[in-house]
Amino acid sequence: MVRDKGCGEIRESDRGQNLTLCGWVFRRRDHGGLIFIDLRDRSGVLQAVFSPDVSADAHKLAHDLRSEFVISVSGEIRQRPEGTENSGMPTGAMEMYVNTLEILNESSPLPFMIEDAADTSEALRLKHRYLDLRRPELQQNFIIRHKVAKIIRNYLDERGFLEIETPMLTKSTPEGARDYLVPSRLNPGHFYALPQSPQIFKQILMVSGFEKYFQIVKCFRDEDLRADRQPEFTQVDLEMSFVDVKDVIEIIEVMMIKLFKNTFDVDIPLPFERLSYRDSMERFGNDKPDLRFGLELKEMADLAEKGTFKVFLDAVRSGGRVKAINGKGMASLSRKEIDLLTEEAQSFGAKGLAWIKVKNGFEAPIAKFFPEEILKQMAQRLDAEDGDLMLFVADKEKVVHDVLSRMRLEFGKRLNLITPGFRFAWITDFPLLEWNDEEGRFEAMHHPFTSPMNEDVEKMLTGDMNDRGMISSLKAKAYDIVLNGYEIGGGSIRIHRRDLQKKMFELLRISEEEAKMKFGFLLDALEYGAPPHGGIALGLDRLVMIMVGASSIRDVIAFPKTQKAFCLMSGTPSAVEPKQLRELSIKIDLPEV
Ligand code: ASP
Repeated sequence: MVRDKGCGEIRESDRGQNLTLCGWVFRRRDHGGLIFIDLRDRSGVLQAVFSPDVSADAHKLAHDLRSEFVISVSGEIRQRPEGTENSGMPTGAMEMYVNTLEILNESSPLPFMIEDAADTSEALRLKHRYLDLRRPELQQNFIIRHKVAKIIRNYLDERGFLEIETPMLTKSTPEGARDYLVPSRLNPGHFYALPQSPQIFKQILMVSGFEKYFQIVKCFRDEDLRADRQPEFTQVDLEMSFVDVKDVIEIIEVMMIKLFKNTFDVDIPLPFERLSYRDSMERFGNDKPDLRFGLELKEMADLAEKGTFKVFLDAVRSGGRVKAINGKGMASLSRKEIDLLTEEAQSFGAKGLAWIKVKNGFEAPIAKFFPEEILKQMAQRLDAEDGDLMLFVADKEKVVHDVLSRMRLEFGKRLNLITPGFRFAWITDFPLLEWNDEEGRFEAMHHPFTSPMNEDVEKMLTGDMNDRGMISSLKAKAYDIVLNGYEIGGGSIRIHRRDLQKKMFELLRISEEEAKMKFGFLLDALEYGAPPHGGIALGLDRLVMIMVGASSIRDVIAFPKTQKAFCLMSGTPSAVEPKQLRELSIKIDLPEV
């Protein structure tokens, strides 16, 4: 054995032992007579002491050590002298007195110090990701990620799931983002798509009779990247036959309970809260509510109508909404600070922000438009007390919800209202289809294979195809799982009847030809005895990010890409050899900029 133990494993029971340890030079302190090295490996850090009294050679060589040299040290494990213990580290009561030092490898001067990495620009860290990943906090994230994946695998195995791989070189899948394409050399002019999800294949596995499938699988979506997205990400993907919504929910709830118990010894109470999509939108303004604090959105249209404030009246009369939230304790804001809030609301899409301070009565330019009694009712509905600030948005429903939900989150943080912990929720009763104004057609809210609720099947099959109201009222057997304000997964019970699937494509204005071209192989499979089935996919990166308390999914992905989908370390994507392009029958034709 090159080494006896991990540095971080040394405890009092090792006292007096002569051991060999290996690792990286984390910190070095030269106190003239003695040299101290914090020696780091994956298991942690141990202080190594070089004293000329123990070994003049080792002490001499220790002068040459620099940050991140890789060394092997042998020597006696001793108790640290009283008063010099470091209770901040698990090995803090112990140290090694080194009698043999071997430098296994040197390191060039570092672009940044490992311990200061958190304050270094992310671009520099990502360029030297191998160094960034040496940070104990990041290593911890990957240890937890490993555990999470392992617990999930074991659990699904216990519940009778089979892990089956689906192809990476495949056809476009129905998740609605742009595909990453891979040219085919053997089929010139033809392309594979990298999977946006294994959706079609997992459904086909149900037709094949596997009954319970799962995969921890890479998926690819070529989207404009927002803060917590990556072009390639990992899903825990499941599909089951002979199930309904409650069965999928049960599988996942127990999985989450096991995950939190076995990683952090945290008990998550059952069952998770359930909200219909409509309730979630009404109360929180979005479909991924953070339930760790209140400040819910309240309806104000009925009260607004009893006043004479034109902006509110216009919004209500043109079919829009007037809603409000309580800026708890914010009546003390100055005019200038309220202007800043208004600007913030405008940056979220609002035309403006109306406000009323509750401060010895009601104080606001718009207060005069409402009878005192109505102002009181507004305050009552918002639970607003003296010292609070009532904030109103009047606009189209989408804008009202968008703006107020973002302000709610902002206030939750700013006013320190978020209670620590993990709050799960299921969002159910989603609309099956959503009207896309730009394209003038309906779109699947989840994807086109999602089943309508049982009570809507007849309506869908026989209803008037031009009745937008009826179509919008169809509900889906779809569900999202939300944790602390993040959507961490979603799925649905699928359509397994050919006539219903056909109708779905009609509603989506997908022609038979197009459907055949895109998903023909699934439609064919559905002809041959497809069982009722459904499933879900969880975003593993996001789940682990929330579990470890990281602020970005980049902190739980070993080699992430930037917002421009670029890997700074490997310099990917990159140009390729002309020969490779010729073999692929590809000509590059860049637009002029
Ligand atoms: N394929 C879906 C997704 O990736 C999940 C599912 O419906 O199972 O979001």
